[in-house]
Amino acid sequence: MRFVDEFRDPAIITRTCEEIRRLTDPARHYRFMEVCGGHTHAIYRFGLKDVLPANIELIHGPGCPVCVLPMGRIDDGLALTRDPRVIFTAFGDMMRVPGAHGSPLEHKAGGMDIRIVYSPSDALKLARSNPDRHVMFFAIGFETTAPSTALTLMRAKAEGVRNFSVFCNHVTIIPAIRAILDSPDMRLDAFIGPGHVSTVIGCRPYEWVARDERKPIVISGFEPLDLLQSTMMLLRQLNSGEAKVENQYARVVPWEGNRAALAAMAEVFQLRPYFEWRGLGFISQSALRIRDEYAAWDAERVFEIAGVRVTDPKAAQCGEVLKGVLKPVQCKLFGRECTPERPVGALMVSSEGSCAAYYNYEHRKAAASRTALAAPV
Ligand code: SF4
Repeated sequence: MRFVDEFRDPAIITRTCEEIRRLTDPARHYRFMEVCGGHTHAIYRFGLKDVLPANIELIHGPGCPVCVLPMGRIDDGLALTRDPRVIFTAFGDMMRVPGAHGSPLEHKAGGMDIRIVYSPSDALKLARSNPDRHVMFFAIGFETTAPSTALTLMRAKAEGVRNFSVFCNHVTIIPAIRAILDSPDMRLDAFIGPGHVSTVIGCRPYEWVARDERKPIVISGFEPLDLLQSTMMLLRQLNSGEAKVENQYARVVPWEGNRAALAAMAEVFQLRPYFEWRGLGFISQSALRIRDEYAAWDAERVFEIAGVRVTDPKAAQCGEVLKGVLKPVQCKLFGRECTPERPVGALMVSSEGSCAAYYNYEHRKAAASRTALAAPV
């Protein structure tokens, strides 16, 4: 398959791994953060950690939108389902995310009208076909998904569909990177930049990372060779004392971003003064709210929202894992109280969450090999 096979070619991968080994200084410890949850998933799925030199440490960043959503927002959204007119809609990966009083799936089991949709426009379609109900779309995601929410709101306004609203939880990636760089616990050498978000925002918004912070950043694709090539490009920059933005994923990411998507976002959204991120706390200008011109479709203005704040369970160390300070397996609950079947934190729910990725690919593999070793011969 084009754009897949050549990025999984064993001969090219072997050569790239050799080049990475050649470029790596054995006396140095490298800490590279992959910002995007999709990269974390690919790193574990393809076992890339195992082919890199041991002194290249990959730190998992906060780029999983489900994982960074604070529990209180989930509870605020679910509280609306007490109104029998409301149909709560969301993407499937939201369904098992625990709020303080259960996940959307548990609320559904309790009789609330909660439905999975594949896009915000599916939710709008549902509103059109249920004129006596109110369809609320629980929107999450970075700049990757915000344009489709914006276009749906523009369509709802153009058509005058008044029984539809969006509970907006869209966040933006650049302030999160800034918060990580400002964190005193964090020492990083370079970034593997997010591929999906960058298809919309392009490469320019990262220029300050290289210019002001002197950290190399390479925007990367999601295939094994993409990530290995990006690692190689970061090593080359570090070896030559450079810090710049490079675009390894140029087959998908335009340097200037997607102008039509950015225009739709600018039409519908404005920055919130601040927004709470799970694990990172309040970050200024890090999330989107719906502009006044679209207030009639903003669930936070159509309904009364309590603005619940909920602290994570004490033993859960989602915050430290999200910031890359701890590895998933270092959380006290990992694999015991918290598993993909019974998640305590959101990082164990989404396939892009580092705990779920680690559990599904590393933990299960280790458990299977322990079982094989223990089996009688
Ligand atoms: S194992 Fe569970 S509780 Fe611990 S950090 Fe991961 S998601 Fe959070």
